[in-house]
Amino acid sequence: MGTELLRMLPSVDEVLRDARLVKELEGQPRSVVVQAVRDVLERERRRLLAGLRPDDENKGKEFILEQTVRETLCAVRQSARPNLRPVINATGVVLHTNMGRALLSERARQAINDVASSYSNIELDLESGRRGSRYAHLEGLLKTLTGAEAVLVVNNNAAAVLLALSTLARGREVIVSRGQLVEIGGSFRVPEVMAQSGARLVEVGTTNKTHPDDYRKAISPDTALLLHVHTSNYRIIGFTRETTISELVEIGRSASLPVMSDLGSGFLFDLSGYGLPSEPTVREVVEAGPDVVTFSGDKLLGGPQAGIILGRKDLIERMKKNPLTRAVRIDKMTVAALEATLREYLDQERAIREIPTLRMLTESRDILQQRGSRLAELLRAAAGEKAEICLEEGFSAVGGGAMPTAELPSVLVAIRPVQESAGELQTKLRRGDPAVMGRVQEDKLLLDVRTIADAELQPLVEAVRGALCEGKGIK
Ligand SMILES: *Cc1c(COP(=O)(O)O)cnc(C)c1O
Repeated sequence: MGTELLRMLPSVDEVLRDARLVKELEGQPRSVVVQAVRDVLERERRRLLAGLRPDDENKGKEFILEQTVRETLCAVRQSARPNLRPVINATGVVLHTNMGRALLSERARQAINDVASSYSNIELDLESGRRGSRYAHLEGLLKTLTGAEAVLVVNNNAAAVLLALSTLARGREVIVSRGQLVEIGGSFRVPEVMAQSGARLVEVGTTNKTHPDDYRKAISPDTALLLHVHTSNYRIIGFTRETTISELVEIGRSASLPVMSDLGSGFLFDLSGYGLPSEPTVREVVEAGPDVVTFSGDKLLGGPQAGIILGRKDLIERMKKNPLTRAVRIDKMTVAALEATLREYLDQERAIREIPTLRMLTESRDILQQRGSRLAELLRAAAGEKAEICLEEGFSAVGGGAMPTAELPSVLVAIRPVQESAGELQTKLRRGDPAVMGRVQEDKLLLDVRTIADAELQPLVEAVRGALCEGKGIK
């Protein structure tokens, strides 16, 4: 019976000639369309052979052709979507590493566009006409904003730490507190980066307490560096004692050893006035006197992925000569976005207004409340009887392995679907267009308005409307 049915399958050419297909897929690469038709027909053939479509015999050839065209349109549209595409982040995690960490300011985005679409002076000194340095575009700004003596910028902070250790301590010892043997997501672990750099890790103290004397006793003729690592993504609380950077600097001075601070996130100014935990700014850390300081460009700084190295001129010069520097160098688009981001910081109020990470972290209660009410209202109209919508109080997180204990009071819109579980709704939203990521809790889907842009409200509502209409069952 199955083989009889196969005669009803259209040929590849018949499908390709179909007027609907030709019209809808104008401009799509022919090879993609042909492949999609072949895949759909093959799937259909298997279904018919397996007897999965007992009714098809009665529906006729035209019906099967129509169905093939419809599935081909779907398949081509799916494959034409970029693999990397925007996602609406409704999780309230401001620096979500899996969703790209910091969003860039308008000026930073414009700067990327400018250098991407035109030649530039990335390594050309326009004054002298000679070869220039890509780092020169960032040096002045970073020195002004942090008080550093010299500057180097590489691909990310992991590369910054690797380069610094490899330059300053290859084949020698680096002393680190046992309380600071950090693992950051994506397998950046202090002991492993140390091994990769060719330096030998010397652990001192204990998990909860490391005293200045622990460092002093561990110093040997083989010691090259004292390293302080910010415990970015965890806190040790209770009976604790960390040796501060200032204390390390004192120990380093008396033993003639350089001190390095891996700050992780790095704040250019204090945000404690906005309800965030108080942390020393990069300038304050530099003033404490370590010889090298490193931090990320796309954590709290709110710029592009980059690793910023500040430090003593002679040490930075040695790093610039390390062949690794070429392997971890930043590209022109990063330089453009970082320069534009740093320029925003020349005026603090402007930085808070223009840099999305800072704006989201400091968003006022009123704005969150307004956005929440508006979203709830739009969602109620869209959901009808299919879901209950209400406003809740809750907390957002900083994310990106920064300020792990900070809880930022926020406004959440809760969706409780009537015919399906919140988990099923989230799955459909995640696979939808645009994709939406929220938080599922006690059979509600929670949307935190802190990380949702005003321009995303309408597309978000349409995505929820579509997902609720699809009804029960996940494709
Ligand atoms: C985040 C972090 C890193 C890694 O920085 P990336 O920019 O993600 O490479 C290294 N050290 C610390 C302490 C961090 O918090």
